Amino acid sequence: MHRIETFIRNIPDFPKPGIQFKDITPLVKNQAVLRLAIHQLIHPFIGNNITAVAGMESRGFIFGSLAAWELGVGFVPLRKPGKLPYDVQSISYDLEYGSAELEIHIDALNKNDHVLLVDDLIATGGTAAASCELIEQLGADIIACAFVIELDTLKGREKLAKYEVHSLIHY
Ligand code: AMP
Repeated sequence: MHRIETFIRNIPDFPKPGIQFKDITPLVKNQAVLRLAIHQLIHPFIGNNITAVAGMESRGFIFGSLAAWELGVGFVPLRKPGKLPYDVQSISYDLEYGSAELEIHIDALNKNDHVLLVDDLIATGGTAAASCELIEQLGADIIACAFVIELDTLKGREKLAKYEVHSLIHY
């Protein structure tokens, strides 16, 4: 049995001093481990009537697309500003230093959608909370948020108190 955490590489001081970057490229390179991670991500939500998986640029695209494929639903990308070609709904949110923005196509989801949000990692939870807000602005509801990695000390989960949060590996 493969252990997912042995395929996550810690890179100290990337991209800035003091950050312990969790590199998921060894995990996604290994087909068996990737498959295990995707199955564990979606397992609690099978039978929950999910109609779409949404994922954030850019590592959320990898895990989100595969989760969507396994659930038999479509994938909706949340992207950095200026990348989506059609009309968008945007949201700004605070980062530890500065701010960031995410966009979604205005017709990507609607009130009939029940969404699983997927990303590689939750740190402060700002990205995921903003993503949930964007999805809800289109009228869809969030079934849960699923992450491969959760950095527990940053308490990102508290920003998602309204939602079910599922993470595979805790640091
Ligand atoms: P946050 O909004 O603080 O929860 O940050 C989450 C986003 O930043 C995710 O899309 C992650 O991919 C990325 N991220 C934040 N911290 C790390 C880290 N230590 N290692 C890898 N990615 C990170």
